[in-house]
Amino acid sequence: MRLMQTEAIFHQIERLKPEMVDALIKLIRVPAVAPENGGDGETLKSEILMKFLENIGFDSIERFDIEDSRVMSGKRPNIIAVCQSDSDAEKLWIVTHLDVVPAGEEKLWTVTNSFEPLVRDGKVYGRGSEDNGQSLVASLYAVKALKSLGIKPMRSVALAFVSDEEQGSKFGIQQLIARGLFGKKDLIVVPDGGRPDGSFIEIAEKSLLWFRIRTIGKQAHGSLPNVGLNANRIAMQVALALDQRLHSKFSLQDDFFDVPYSTFEPTKREKNVDALNIVPGEDVSYFDCRILPKYDLDEILDEINKVLSEFEVKTGAKIKLELLMKQASPKPMVGSEEVVNLLRKALKEARGLDARVGGIGGGSCAAFFREAGIPAIVWSTVDEVMHQPNEYTIIENMVSDAKVYALMMLL
Ligand SMILES: [Zn+2]
Repeated sequence: MRLMQTEAIFHQIERLKPEMVDALIKLIRVPAVAPENGGDGETLKSEILMKFLENIGFDSIERFDIEDSRVMSGKRPNIIAVCQSDSDAEKLWIVTHLDVVPAGEEKLWTVTNSFEPLVRDGKVYGRGSEDNGQSLVASLYAVKALKSLGIKPMRSVALAFVSDEEQGSKFGIQQLIARGLFGKKDLIVVPDGGRPDGSFIEIAEKSLLWFRIRTIGKQAHGSLPNVGLNANRIAMQVALALDQRLHSKFSLQDDFFDVPYSTFEPTKREKNVDALNIVPGEDVSYFDCRILPKYDLDEILDEINKVLSEFEVKTGAKIKLELLMKQASPKPMVGSEEVVNLLRKALKEARGLDARVGGIGGGSCAAFFREAGIPAIVWSTVDEVMHQPNEYTIIENMVSDAKVYALMMLL
């Protein structure tokens, strides 16, 4: 019986493929960029999603709009759509996010413009196609396939579509978790990361440290650097020194993690002076650090401050650390959690694949679940082109992931 159902559902998902591509395109076309990045949030996109949801005929659709005066609608939408089963066992959740990061430099989008989706060579290009559109649509159509065949899932399935993932989830998953919507025994999948062959199930993550260094020197004319204090030069020296010091001092390896060591990356730098003949008096540089759980974050912050004071003494500049995010890694769950087994079983049956369990650099909705003591796994089949120009999703991955979700709903 179940094998026949599986076959029918897989067939149905194949049949729905053109519709899935169309849905993805419609969603990509509406930029859902956070107000921090100059966007107007997720409201417009959520309205399109609501139409899909109503059309599929979920048993219940609930909205949790969180007030945010920075966006035009005044709210950041979160939606939960449920497909009921006959059993009152724990729910299976698939949590995806509506928001996307900005396009970045538009001129680097050579295939198509960032928010003008294009289908080419079995891929859909556009910002938000992989992150998180592919998984959002896959979860939607897994349920649609079941519904359209009149098949009830083994356990109730809840799809959550959340806001604000890219900026820390204060208006998104954190609110839903705080409302107690998730049970400790619920099975939670956050398909927001993965590997090209879908063989990696993430159950743990590194600690996160985001900070910026503000270097204050003295601005001067380009011809008279001797009367100024070049904050640009000092900041570069500081960044390199931090890079070297942190990598060498906190250099332990742990093969459970993909990227098996701590990473300390100098990333963004704020714009400084307007002309090339001005010696900059101020510099602001950022670091993104993903740290193995065995390290104490305060120890790392102490080391950073040590480097900064060394350079203050050496250069006479004021160099300040400004902490933007400090999130210690929650305890990793053991690999035998029910949701891991369920996904493994589905992957084996759908693709003949033996999936590996491990940890990554972190930073998805899953972290907030784990912090709340609710097991959550991260899995999807992606090339990991998220946040890059020419972001794309492979249509076959979207279809194949939908089959895996559907199978998880049956097992
Ligand atoms: Zn994402």
